[in-house]
Amino acid sequence: MCLSKQRYIMKQMSGLLKDKVAVITGAGRGIGQATAFLFAKEGAKLLLCDLDKKPLDETVSKIKSSGGIVEGIVCDVRKKEDCENVMKAGANLGNGSIDVLTNIAGITCDKILHTMSLEDWNFILNVNLTGTFLCIQAASPYMREIAKKEEAKLGKIKTRSIINISSTSAMGNIGQANYAASKAGIIGLTKTVAKEWARFNITCNAVAPGYIETRLTQVRKEGEDFGIPEEQKQMIDMMQKQTGLARELGQSEDIAKVILFFASDLSAYVTGQVLTVAGGMIGTV
Ligand code: NAD
Repeated sequence: MCLSKQRYIMKQMSGLLKDKVAVITGAGRGIGQATAFLFAKEGAKLLLCDLDKKPLDETVSKIKSSGGIVEGIVCDVRKKEDCENVMKAGANLGNGSIDVLTNIAGITCDKILHTMSLEDWNFILNVNLTGTFLCIQAASPYMREIAKKEEAKLGKIKTRSIINISSTSAMGNIGQANYAASKAGIIGLTKTVAKEWARFNITCNAVAPGYIETRLTQVRKEGEDFGIPEEQKQMIDMMQKQTGLARELGQSEDIAKVILFFASDLSAYVTGQVLTVAGGMIGTV
């Protein structure tokens, strides 16, 4: 490759989200927080939201102190009105347009199927699946409708992207009937939005993480809501030794980098795809 072309590519590789406005849900912790930090580094203007104010405020102030443009809003993605407020605030950062919507907010409530209450089932479906649906719908005026206006005015539409978070558990996992159904539902939702909104140059893809070390996957201690049993963690360690990459277990940053790919113009011609990110440990979705 000639030197000038190499330099051109290098230049394109930094500031991958320069001039883009991105909304990230679940940005107070784990994968959402890592994505917010990476997006800020790549030059995006950010609207972050989370159910919990304290971790959200901490994320916002860290990004601000390193010079990023960011706002945070407390929001429950189960509530239509909250989602609408978030998208409106995001669009205000971008003259009425949102370029990237990243639906990361999610939760677990694991129980073996015969002990799972209807409340446990609905809770997880509402946060993970309905929350993602509500956010996409609330973003429609600032992604889909604005694209129509651009086409009418300029004859072309800029690239916009939606990234949803599925899971390798979408293919079934003991104790996760509710979670697996929500994450499988996200695949159907992603592929449908990809088809419906391709016409408006909006890509919609999903990332399906395997085991990533966060609050949701730590070994559960007495009295804690989140986490996995000790035996499951031992199984994960064993699986990594057998088929996983020879490195530490998956980190939030490993997922953030793949989300960045789908958020940036590097993937401008990719839509309706689900990418498993599991370090070789677990089968693909
Ligand atoms: P996390 O608990 O560290 O972060 C999730 C964030 O979402 C939290 O800050 C939480 O407050 C927020 N949230 C929860 N409910 C919300 C609601 N109703 N409205 C707004 N915000 C809400 O978990 P994580 O592991 O970083 O998970 C992020 C996403 O990745 C989730 O969708 C999860 O299902 C998915 N995922 C995680 C793993 C893993 O191994 N950690 C694997 C596959 C998929």
